[in-house]
Amino acid sequence: MRVGMLQETGRVVVQEAPRPRPAPDEVLIRVAYAGVCGSDLHAFTGTHPFRKPPVVLGHEVSGTIAEAGAEVTGLQVGDRVTVMPYVSCGRCHYCAQGRTNICENKIVPGIGGWQGTFADLFIARADITYPLGPDTSLVQGALAEPLAVGAHAVARGGVAPGNDVLVLGGGTIGLLTGYAALRAGARSVALTDLYDYNLRVAREIGIPHAYNARSEGLEDAIRRDYPEGLDVIFLAGAAPVLVGQATRLARRGGRIVSTALFDGPVPVDVVAMTLYELELVGTQIYQATDFFRALAWLNEDGPRLERLVDHVMPLEQAHEAMTLLAERREDVVKILLQPENER
Ligand SMILES: [Zn+2]
Ligand SMILES: [Zn+2]
Repeated sequence: MRVGMLQETGRVVVQEAPRPRPAPDEVLIRVAYAGVCGSDLHAFTGTHPFRKPPVVLGHEVSGTIAEAGAEVTGLQVGDRVTVMPYVSCGRCHYCAQGRTNICENKIVPGIGGWQGTFADLFIARADITYPLGPDTSLVQGALAEPLAVGAHAVARGGVAPGNDVLVLGGGTIGLLTGYAALRAGARSVALTDLYDYNLRVAREIGIPHAYNARSEGLEDAIRRDYPEGLDVIFLAGAAPVLVGQATRLARRGGRIVSTALFDGPVPVDVVAMTLYELELVGTQIYQATDFFRALAWLNEDGPRLERLVDHVMPLEQAHEAMTLLAERREDVVKILLQPENER
């Protein structure tokens, strides 16, 4: 089988690898689509904290089960599935609290010998492999993982019915967080981004208040539409300037949720945080509940969410896909790689 291997920073090579064999509690998945994620881009540019070359990139996936280990129950060869791509230890302090997403011993594709999804075939434990809903296409299924990130961020933000929500940054995660906020009952969701294209995608998935972050008077424009400020604000872009925008635009008692990975520490106006009882919380991937929610939303609303997918490229072009994202030579939100397995 073929894999998309990051051989060194800035270079992905598609090469042959041995066909993996599932352990008794694992399944072998024939990859239909593998999503390219911001974290793959970090690995590609050499800025990822632990994904270092040589490594098979990718953790977002949809596909069909090609082989099931002897102990696997509830999943059959041919099932259309996606994977919640991490394994928690079940024993640490955080797992004991149900906070599996911040497990001390968490294993993810790209470490510990677990090869990523940029491949013809992908191995996953059966207990993190979920069937797609009957109305979910394989393209839509590849969005389950980033949508679960949005679902968890919205849970961390405590978005409640009637809230006004602002998402700063309209890439895949920002867009899907905005969508998740709508599903959580937000009265209104606003979003900012540097690119008009991303703002258009935002509108198309149901986020009407989309502001270009380059425009002068951005904060005034948002304040005109939301004179009271916003209840929950998501930092979905890694620009330090967004943190100041968030503390200025938050409503009293509001909550700021950091989902982006900044390059380093960023100053925060703690005076505003004190005076107005603002809260700042982090959010990290997802738990199984978030993943189930994402799967349900995809099954109800797949065609709308699919609007994010603007590029489907063959696995052979994994390197081109990474450079397209890194250099942004054209409008792009979500790229899926397609191995085009012989069926
Ligand atoms: Zn991802
Ligand atoms: Zn643990």
